[in-house]
Amino acid sequence: TVLLEIHQLVRTYQVGGQEIRALSGVNLTIQRGEYVAIMGPSGSGKSTMMNMIGCLDVPSSGTYRLDGYDVSRLSDDELAILRNQKIGFVFQNFNLLPKTTALENVELPMLYAGISPRERRQRAMEALERVGLAERMHNRPNELSGGQQQRVSIARALVNKPVLLLADEPTGALDSHTTEEILQLFADLHAQGNTIVLVTHEPEVGRRAKRIIRFRDGRVESDTANDMEIKQP
Ligand code: ADP
Ligand code: ADP
Repeated sequence: TVLLEIHQLVRTYQVGGQEIRALSGVNLTIQRGEYVAIMGPSGSGKSTMMNMIGCLDVPSSGTYRLDGYDVSRLSDDELAILRNQKIGFVFQNFNLLPKTTALENVELPMLYAGISPRERRQRAMEALERVGLAERMHNRPNELSGGQQQRVSIARALVNKPVLLLADEPTGALDSHTTEEILQLFADLHAQGNTIVLVTHEPEVGRRAKRIIRFRDGRVESDTANDMEIKQP
């Protein structure tokens, strides 16, 4: 079933009296359970697209429907609620709170959801188990490797059971071995039914997704199913 539906989406910016079209007429449908990589050169509109998909920004024209909601018509407050309920964000630089433990970082999104402290702790522990980091739950971010910190941030993204996991260059700060571990985790989460959309510059990351959408000049240049398993020699 359809999770995300974007129709004739345009996003313009006014820069010094000039109009820049960051996105100019994007059509895109993503089904529940898909694993999608968004790629394309710098300036092609990837960040703007991620901001749209993540409900951090609204279209200048065109429509965006997420899980049945018409995002283009929501107020800022409604947008914030939708974002918190529907989307789990993963960032290149993890964005963890430095002075709190892994467990407390993962509990954070539930503070605003009116969940009891006992259940918060329970669910945060389960989320850390899912990403293979249960034994490090009492460590602070600076006591964890980059890959472990990214696992914490993925646990935090998953803890409210979002319909969409949205990752912006999730392996951009990781070495190739750790990148491989995180990609295996994404593959596992995909196999468990999670919908994943990520942006990446790295071909070896993009080709692990099941569908690759390439942007150029604010448009979808290509959109291809990636059913070939490309293995390293
Ligand atoms: P990418 O993420 O692929 O590098 P962006 O979405 O950041 O592309 O940018 C697409 C185009 O929109 C670029 O020309 C960029 O300079 C412009 N742009 C993006 N965000 C803004 C903004 N906040 N103000 C003005 N121009 C912007
Ligand atoms: P990325 O490295 O992910 O492609 P960018 O450097 O393109 O990111 O953009 C980072 C942020 O700055 C984005 O939120 C984007 O919308 C904004 N941005 C990009 N280009 C411009 C611009 N010309 N003027 C203002 N903001 C911009």
